[in-house]
Amino acid sequence: MDIKENLNRIKATLPAGVRLVAVSKTHPAEMIQEAYDAGQRVFGENKVQEMTAKSQVLPADIEWHFIGHVQSNKIRMMAPYVSVIQGIDSFDKLVETDRQAAKNGRHITCYLQLHIASEETKFGFSPDECSAMLEQGDWRNLRNITIGGVMGMATNTDDEAQVLGEFRRLKELFDTYKAKYFSASPEFNTISAGMSGDYELAIKSGSNMVRIGSSIFGERNYNLKK
Ligand SMILES: *Cc1c(COP(=O)(O)O)cnc(C)c1O
Repeated sequence: MDIKENLNRIKATLPAGVRLVAVSKTHPAEMIQEAYDAGQRVFGENKVQEMTAKSQVLPADIEWHFIGHVQSNKIRMMAPYVSVIQGIDSFDKLVETDRQAAKNGRHITCYLQLHIASEETKFGFSPDECSAMLEQGDWRNLRNITIGGVMGMATNTDDEAQVLGEFRRLKELFDTYKAKYFSASPEFNTISAGMSGDYELAIKSGSNMVRIGSSIFGERNYNLKK
């Protein structure tokens, strides 16, 4: 697995303006360091304990994105260092992130995770829940967070038309929210969509942040303890 070569190959295919989150979950700090040495600064993890342990031994200028399902009681643990929490799926979690960011004298960016897939198991706001939360408006009082965009995962299927349709739906929701609630907020600018298997379709549908793991670091072995 030549991490540097994989990174360079993927970056060469990304249009200007599309950011890359290198998803390093399950992989050891040495592999992240290798990607760091090749110039990568943005990494994604989906377990708070694992991300925290890695953040403590790796360079301080890494931008850590939490891309997993967020449990409210774990927000406190990552608040001292996390840059972006991508999996926000309730107003309460925005409130808790704001509270913990304030305690640490920090500002944390949050993406609203939207349920766009047909699978039951994927987390996220339904579009209706998210619209209701934004319409209600109390999020405007949270001074230590910024809502920076939306995040979504498509159904895990070979049906390209379905995947494209789901990513387009995410882009439509982003555009709607942008126009209605964030037209004066340049920081609401990110559509986080696309993984190793579907990122080209995501970009075609308007994604400007891809989260890629296995194409950079190789297959994950969940049985092998690092
Ligand atoms: C693991 C994961 C990814 C990366 O998946 P790959 O198929 O390895 O590229 C992207 N997004 C989320 C939310 C993930 O959990």
